[in-house]
Amino acid sequence: MKAVLAIGGSDSSCGAGLARDLAVIAAHGLTARICVTAVTAQGAGGVTASHPLPPDLIAAQIAAAGPVAAIKTGMLANATVIESVIAALRALPDAPLVIDPVLRASSGAALLDTAGVAALRKLFPRAALLTPNRPEAEALTGETTPDAQAAVLMRQGAKAVLIKGGHADGADATDLLFAATGCHSFNAPRLPGTRRGTGCTLATAIVCGLAQGQGLEQAVAAAKAYLTAWWRG
Ligand code: PLP
Repeated sequence: MKAVLAIGGSDSSCGAGLARDLAVIAAHGLTARICVTAVTAQGAGGVTASHPLPPDLIAAQIAAAGPVAAIKTGMLANATVIESVIAALRALPDAPLVIDPVLRASSGAALLDTAGVAALRKLFPRAALLTPNRPEAEALTGETTPDAQAAVLMRQGAKAVLIKGGHADGADATDLLFAATGCHSFNAPRLPGTRRGTGCTLATAIVCGLAQGQGLEQAVAAAKAYLTAWWRG
């Protein structure tokens, strides 16, 4: 069975982070490998504690993963973690990487520090896809339109960028995929309420599609349908 490597933080409430990733990978019939970058305590009060793991432990987890079909990063905490991820991923050059550029929890707490944001850009050239939401795309680029945001992120090395529309307005949540083949739009009705872990769920479902041999557009479309079904479920 093909394996997917999820690199990210644990959320003690299991609403987001690696616990969510594992549920999505299992639902796609794939095997999971994980690399825990940070341990967080989260509950009704938001993020109440967060602790990054040492770089040698991060490198060791990735080295122990063995061959994997695709890789996803979520919470990376700080620049030291990112440097060790970049170095360790050199041993897995062929597996496509999807970066979910997690900056904050929905409660507002930072999940990547300021130096980490600068270091994250060094990982972009390794990425098959970056999946920022609108606030993340704006924070990473200083630009306000998806076209300009994607152009900056692709200049910084990302091969493709999916700007998610969950934080925008309108009856539909429209995600825009910018890739070498042009811009593609993915629509789904905006669902009522809020859910934790939506970003993790979408990015991991895309990674699962890539691991199963789907092309980027097909993987995004399937992941969006998966997210909608999970939200409604
Ligand atoms: N906690 C961890 C460990 C995460 O990886 C993420 C997102 O990737 C979050 C929290 C944020 O999730 P939410 O927006 O549901 O708070």
